[in-house]
Amino acid sequence: DAPAAGKVCTRFDLEKETELRFEVEAGEAAEQVEMELLTGMAEVFGSELNRNKKYTFGAGSKIAVFTWQGCSVNLYGKPEVAYVSKETPMLLYLNTHAALEQMRKQAERDNERGPRVMVVGPTDVGKSTVCRLLLSYAVRVGRRPTLVELDVGQSGVSVPGTVSALCIERPADVEEGFSVQAPLVYHFGSTTPGTNIKLYNKLTSCLAEVFSQRCEVNRKASVGGCIINTCGWVKGSGYQALVHCASAFQVDVVLVLDHERLYNELKRDLPHFVRVVLLPKSGGVVERSKECRRDARDEKIREYFYGFRGVTFYPFSFEVRFSDVRIYKIGAPSIPDSCLPLGMSQDDTQLKLVPVTPGRDLTYHVLSVSSAEDGEEGVRKGIVESPVCGFIVVTNVDTQTQVMKVLSPAPRPLPRHTLLIMDIRFMDMK
Ligand code: ADP
Repeated sequence: DAPAAGKVCTRFDLEKETELRFEVEAGEAAEQVEMELLTGMAEVFGSELNRNKKYTFGAGSKIAVFTWQGCSVNLYGKPEVAYVSKETPMLLYLNTHAALEQMRKQAERDNERGPRVMVVGPTDVGKSTVCRLLLSYAVRVGRRPTLVELDVGQSGVSVPGTVSALCIERPADVEEGFSVQAPLVYHFGSTTPGTNIKLYNKLTSCLAEVFSQRCEVNRKASVGGCIINTCGWVKGSGYQALVHCASAFQVDVVLVLDHERLYNELKRDLPHFVRVVLLPKSGGVVERSKECRRDARDEKIREYFYGFRGVTFYPFSFEVRFSDVRIYKIGAPSIPDSCLPLGMSQDDTQLKLVPVTPGRDLTYHVLSVSSAEDGEEGVRKGIVESPVCGFIVVTNVDTQTQVMKVLSPAPRPLPRHTLLIMDIRFMDMK
């Protein structure tokens, strides 16, 4: 795997405890950048690099190659920026890992459960990266931690608009991140918790319950604990959602990235036995624009259908009769308390299943295929709390023939017939 001929090669010699940060230009025309470790040892977000192997990073990648002992690295191609930084919070992050590992050891000794950790902070402070780092360090010392992904805008596990949990069994791949096999995924339906905070909290509780059940039967999972990645919305209901999550998961540790007020608020509002720790963000974390985030979301959906890097999937396109499926939206529009029917609360409306009549406006919407058993019409209990088994996108709707065309990862027929509509749309440009 020789680097492409004609690519510019730049060598960087790194002293111990420094990192090389580089960014690959965004956009389709962008040229990939390759990176090779020549001497010494280094890691990318907690995953160790092999020497003399060329790692390839595509458009928009933002990478840090960190070394504890010193190393030299070659970059091939033209990164948008590339510089070496001596100011990194890595030592603090490593100490955090060491403290969590102590807690796991103690849990092992005392037959208790391992640390449940919630990572919080505003957007673009490196929450996902810190989660990845702590999870990779934990598996490297033989643990089996669980990643709980509550960031419905930028999920590292599934498509946007979902919350999920994933057992981590090996360190993240340097180029591709964690291998996503058999995650537990729930439908939320939009990219911000604010669109339906009741549903968001409900799903958080569902995940916490499933995780606790697993811990009861699986000692390794229990000792490994979990690392919870959260949304960047830290005010108002967003803050309340964090407090709810801490209680649902009975978290032991909260890592607050770069937000002193949030740190103080959580210290004040969480039970005293919860350790709330303020950590600095890395200067390397790059702020992403709205467009950048939207593109990342689109890319995530594209990957779900078409694959990623070396792996190409060939999705199917087929017709589905309206009469064969039931489509719901979770949550009725909120109405003033005074207009609610007697005995009904706002909670009920936000968790209500509202039947959707298929029409042209369904086109391009992402639909989750619920794993709930296909019951009688009206037997809808448990759909909100059921995991999803996959996603389809509506590519065309014919109201005349009462048929819609869908893009699906698997051939027809659909495994289940209860579909949940997302606010999120995907236009297939392939
Ligand atoms: P958040 O989860 O808080 O929104 P992320 O962890 O996704 O933030 O980080 C935002 C971006 O910054 C990601 O593209 C990530 O790869 C990049 N990044 C994180 N840490 C560093 C670093 N030390 N150097 C360079 N880029 C980094």
